[in-house]
Amino acid sequence: MNDLNQNPLPKNTSFSEKLPALQISIDSTSLGAFKTCPEYYNLAIRLGYVLDSIYENADLKWGLEFHAAMELFDRLKSQNIDTKTALIETIKHTLIRTWDKETSQPWISENPNKTRFTLIRAVIWYVEQFKNDPLETIILANGKPAVELSFRFESGIYSMSTEEQFMLCGHIDRLIKFHNQIFVTDKKTTKYQLDDNFFDHFNPDNQMSLYDLAGSVVFNQQIEGIIIDGIQCQVNGNKFRRGFIYPGINREVWLNHLKFWLRQLELTALEEQQNPNYPWPKNDKNCIRYGRPCEFAKVCRENLSMRQKILNTHYKRRVWDPLITREV
Ligand code: SF4
Repeated sequence: MNDLNQNPLPKNTSFSEKLPALQISIDSTSLGAFKTCPEYYNLAIRLGYVLDSIYENADLKWGLEFHAAMELFDRLKSQNIDTKTALIETIKHTLIRTWDKETSQPWISENPNKTRFTLIRAVIWYVEQFKNDPLETIILANGKPAVELSFRFESGIYSMSTEEQFMLCGHIDRLIKFHNQIFVTDKKTTKYQLDDNFFDHFNPDNQMSLYDLAGSVVFNQQIEGIIIDGIQCQVNGNKFRRGFIYPGINREVWLNHLKFWLRQLELTALEEQQNPNYPWPKNDKNCIRYGRPCEFAKVCRENLSMRQKILNTHYKRRVWDPLITREV
């Protein structure tokens, strides 16, 4: 995504030309935000506000860099490059990405679990952990490895007001073959234990259901399920555990319910047109998530007249456009 703190913001191509408050191309982050709370979606996705501190959020940066490193490693391996060479290239690439050329210093993180050192260590240990990995990256019909795949497909659901078709989009980590069955893979990091509770977080789950659907529709493959590599990150080391989930059991139901959510999204976008700059409906049962207040709590608890002032003071803006291809 683009990190931008300048005006005017570039056009967000995922929104409708005909009804500007309506997002037509939806990824799991956007849909998940709307399901969480329409006002949260309005502020974080449609208007693109992020807390100043989130810009330097170590968890986010660490996760992005880890994914980028493993994507490169998977690509090199799928080109039959040996593990040692692929790992050295990956580490070089990661060290360069986490070096700030402007200040001539490495990325500094305030989170001791998520530093440049723990990042490099996690990459090395992950490769060591799965060095005899039985998962085999699928090679697509165009000869390319099925790694970090951007997808976009027609949902079959149309806007009532603009008659445009909603598109579903996003990025899949990897498609692999395991025991002659095809799975989507993803990696998730945590500081907590990698017990069954950890994997239960991902089924049912909006993101995993969309990955499962996308794998089946876009890549025309019978997807068996999702393989999640859990990575526990602590100051003194990393632990790994692999889990399997099967959201495809409810694929049709999920797609049917998607109609409900997209209708709600459209109705709210239509209301926005009538009453611009008014908060979207607040799901105030979700203001605390994972034991922490929502990052927009200070906006939502204040008087409406203070809303814009608080947003201007404490938040930056960027464009969340899922149609922009990731740079790796
Ligand atoms: S604080 Fe609550 S109502 Fe406000 S955006 Fe967050 S979840 Fe929604």
